[in-house]
Amino acid sequence: MNRIRLLSEQVANQIAAGEVIERPASVVKELVENSLDAQAGRVTVEIQAGGRSLVRVADDGTGMSRDDALLCLERHATSKIRLAEDLAGIATMGFRGEALPSIASVSRFTLTTRERDSQSPEGTQVVISGGKMLEVKAAGSAPGTTVEVRHLFFNLPARRKFLRTEPTESAHIQHYLTLAGLAFPEVAFTFQKDGRLIWQLPAIKSGNDVPARLAALRERLRALYGGEQGLLPVDFSAAIRPIETPGEEPGPDLGPQTSNLRLWGFIGAPGVSRLTREDQHVFVNRRPVQNRGLNFALFEGYHTALMKGRYPVCCLFLEIDPAAVDVNIHPAKREVRFHQEGEVRRLVAQAVRETLLRLAPGPQSTVHSPRSEERSPQPAVHPPERGERRDVGEVGQASLPSFPSGLRPAVDAAAAQAVTQPVLRMGFGAPPPPSPPETPAPQSASAAAPTARVTPAAAVPLLNVPLRLLGVVGRLYVVLESDRGLVLMDQHAAHERVLYEQMLNRLERNDQAPSQRLLLPETVELSARDASFVREQLPALGRLGVGLSEFGERTFLLDALPPFVKGVDPRRFVLAILDELKASGLEVNTLRLAEHVVAKTVCRHAVKARDPLAGPELEALVQDLRHCAMPYTCPHGRPTLIEMNFRELEKKFGRTA
Ligand code: ADP
Ligand code: MG
Repeated sequence: MNRIRLLSEQVANQIAAGEVIERPASVVKELVENSLDAQAGRVTVEIQAGGRSLVRVADDGTGMSRDDALLCLERHATSKIRLAEDLAGIATMGFRGEALPSIASVSRFTLTTRERDSQSPEGTQVVISGGKMLEVKAAGSAPGTTVEVRHLFFNLPARRKFLRTEPTESAHIQHYLTLAGLAFPEVAFTFQKDGRLIWQLPAIKSGNDVPARLAALRERLRALYGGEQGLLPVDFSAAIRPIETPGEEPGPDLGPQTSNLRLWGFIGAPGVSRLTREDQHVFVNRRPVQNRGLNFALFEGYHTALMKGRYPVCCLFLEIDPAAVDVNIHPAKREVRFHQEGEVRRLVAQAVRETLLRLAPGPQSTVHSPRSEERSPQPAVHPPERGERRDVGEVGQASLPSFPSGLRPAVDAAAAQAVTQPVLRMGFGAPPPPSPPETPAPQSASAAAPTARVTPAAAVPLLNVPLRLLGVVGRLYVVLESDRGLVLMDQHAAHERVLYEQMLNRLERNDQAPSQRLLLPETVELSARDASFVREQLPALGRLGVGLSEFGERTFLLDALPPFVKGVDPRRFVLAILDELKASGLEVNTLRLAEHVVAKTVCRHAVKARDPLAGPELEALVQDLRHCAMPYTCPHGRPTLIEMNFRELEKKFGRTA
């Protein structure tokens, strides 16, 4: 008996829908992608009941002829690719030719379309219910396409049951639309929810060059989030190194051997992060994607500028030859795979790192505000305890940070310019930063306008303005003032950062870290597993001044420690390092990372063991911090400095609205 039969078109479509259409947000995504592929300048999205009862997407794109309107509802009908080879270079959002028939098979579906470039005022309307064509007729309509999807999954009750609450489904839709809005600032988006207007994003004119696109993106971010703060512009390009396959002919489908990569957008300044990935937006050729390698690259790039358990805030666009990336690995096209994953990851990490390092105070970023010059003509000589104010170092005196050459910021025109870019403070979501009232801003009239850029003074990184030491509270928080307002420094965090970079510098120069013999060497016994783990780290530990040697199968002898680690239980110290090493996972670039982890732990213990610092030492600390490459966070990513400008103070005291 024959048991196998071909599935009907309708069943096949429903099966495809199972993959592509997970929830109302998938419908919105597919329809909006189609509008964007059709060169729409305006896209209007309306939903009702979280998209369960209605999703309507209207655009002013190319539209379709009557024949195309019918054909687009067939499975595997697409205008975007023709041949299998085309899959290797996809430049559109869609290409699978599955979305429309899938959606139409699980909803009550109406397509209304009129060709933009045709003379006829008449369009076409197609009505389908659960995959059955009910009606095709001529219909008057504006040029462009409108797709209306009602009662999603009405014929798949099991599927419908799995939908979440209306607010949850709405949130998914809004999230996707945010991404589309960020990727296409030149397109106007309108979003209506249950009859209420949620967004009306005007189209933003933008050029092809990165500065113009950054400006457009910044404006779109502002429109979507009501302001972005603490974001640093990224503009990085590099060539991807070819894969070396000695003696082997490259296969025909390996893609090009070299290609260029460009990464641009915004990333959070050190200390700006989130507890979730929610504000971490990464696009590959304008497509919002999830890619583990890219997530890793971000972490690697931030390195010590990110607190444990926190995620970077970013909106980054990776542009790469379409042939160097595979977008056809996920039915909803959410994931991508790079042909040279390792290279892409390395370059993205480098881009992030270079951007963060540009924030470091350096000679190229010398900026004096007139007021600070007038106030501090010469350095004072008395320590602050006598009630004197004193400038802790001056702007521009700092030399370039001596940092591992691999991490050294490029001192080029772009870098010099970048430090004068507005440096804001909080990531997405908060209102734009106010300009400090005391700052002499020659263009203060324009600064008051809502679209004005941040005044130059606020754009200057905190460590590039003079700071005066006022005192210490709680034996930990150093109180300083600048011409912009109040500055607090966590002296432990700052000290940790300074020690950490000094240690890394030494490592970079291959110097042996100072090490002090213990009067009474101690033995440390470990579990077999820990012992073998520690054994691998002995060289890194030794270089950092921790004298540990094998003493037996599972026993180690600790006979030296870095001199600044005092008053610490040596055994507990070794165990702490071990825990940190294990917790870090050491997935990336093992040796370097191991050294960094050890260095971080050493610094933390060193700082904990210290007595409170006195005035001159604190001044030296601020000065040392100015020499750091990543001065604004401790090695664990916590902030070293907090600034509260006069505007914020005035707000807190109710002096301004
Ligand atoms: P894909 O986008 O993968 O090609 P779809 O099923 O989403 O597959 O769409 C099928 C085809 O219908 C598209 O290739 C395109 O030619 C046409 N189409 C769909 N939506 C629109 C639209 N909004 N404007 C113009 N053409 C459209
Ligand atoms: Mg599509």
